[in-house]
Amino acid sequence: MQFENSLEFAQNLDQQDAIKSLRNEFLIPQHKGKDCIYLTGNSLGLQSRNIRKYIDEELKTWATLGVDGHFHSEKRPWYDYHKFSKQALADLVGGIPSEVIAMNNLSSNLHFMMVSFYRPTSKRFKVIMEAGAFPSDMYAVESQIKFHNIDYEKALVEIAPREGEHTLRTEDIVECIKEHGDEVALVLFGGVQYYTGQLYDLEAIVSAGHSVGAFVGFDLAHAVGNVPLKLHDIGADFAAWCSYKYLNSGPGGVSGIFVHERHHNQPNIPRFAGWWGQDEQERFQMKKGFKPMPGADGWQLSNVNVISSAAHLAALEIFQRVGIKTLREKSIKLTGFMEFLLNDLRLEKESLEIITPENPEERGCQLSLLLKKNGRQVFDELTNEGVIVDWREPNVIRASPVPLYNTFSDVYHFVQIIKKSIIK
Ligand SMILES: *Cc1c(COP(=O)(O)O)cnc(C)c1O
Repeated sequence: MQFENSLEFAQNLDQQDAIKSLRNEFLIPQHKGKDCIYLTGNSLGLQSRNIRKYIDEELKTWATLGVDGHFHSEKRPWYDYHKFSKQALADLVGGIPSEVIAMNNLSSNLHFMMVSFYRPTSKRFKVIMEAGAFPSDMYAVESQIKFHNIDYEKALVEIAPREGEHTLRTEDIVECIKEHGDEVALVLFGGVQYYTGQLYDLEAIVSAGHSVGAFVGFDLAHAVGNVPLKLHDIGADFAAWCSYKYLNSGPGGVSGIFVHERHHNQPNIPRFAGWWGQDEQERFQMKKGFKPMPGADGWQLSNVNVISSAAHLAALEIFQRVGIKTLREKSIKLTGFMEFLLNDLRLEKESLEIITPENPEERGCQLSLLLKKNGRQVFDELTNEGVIVDWREPNVIRASPVPLYNTFSDVYHFVQIIKKSIIK
């Protein structure tokens, strides 16, 4: 698409946007009586108006029915609560409903997935991940390796970008996996890298991992609700994500997991169990002997956090209504427009460099801007002008225009403020 650098052009794009009315369904934080330019949906997605209604309904059920809300709630009996998000999550990650379940939080789920899919032996013990992964993922992997009494330095293999580059080349990822061959127990990668915004070629990573006999799992924190995914078709073994970033389900909202169908009906796969993973028919018999539910459900431990999951259902309802494909189409335009405007500032690389890949197929919403000279000052000026972006030490601003609630005008104003604060 041919972009033009003017407010009028941005406003025209907003006019023509077929899903522009969705913005009205969200509560936009305010700055000096005006809507903020909120570009941090990659960190905490905004609250949709239906969330209060969904939560109120559960509060009312609790108030009027007490414990009977588990079975006798008219709309959404709590006993079945984990089932209500399945179809939406399956659609978002490209799985079938039995492959997904909402539960726990992300870091906990990474551990539970590794209990099942990182089972090192003396010969096959390595974990391959991207260098500079999100800290929680690094701690999770480190502690898993140490938990098995394995030499952490030897077991962890991190793939870093080439000298002078910011993002990973698929060929380097594949080569690294092949190089470590049958020593690789697990390949654990992000979907979209939280810092650079790079969308990895998940299919290539799965096939490289499987070709050496390793399990392959993904942390989709920055990918789910951002880009369409095809976990089932590409054959990923497992994935986990959180719901408070692009999925707009509220701070600390429930996480989700995917376990590929090929691992269902394997009751002996090692896992840490709880009563909610117990076969539904026998759950309330309170007997000894764990008999897991088939599918991802068998990894559940606890009964559902209903209040938080009500927010999740409300947020997912919007994704079901609009569809990730439609969102992605707008997202590519919106982020492309931001990139066009930033490039049109014609700044030296030293002042501003976009480290996110140029190819729309290799990124989602987010652009990561490296500001070597005066990044912190630019960030502070953005904040003063009511632009909410985030700052990552030492010198990166991450900005994510989200197709559900951001506008082309948002993007235009954001770049104008950057321009003003860099070109003095
Ligand atoms: C946001 C994020 C997390 C956060 O983990 P929580 O357990 O939800 O606190 C973990 N990993 C990645 C890659 C993230 O982007």
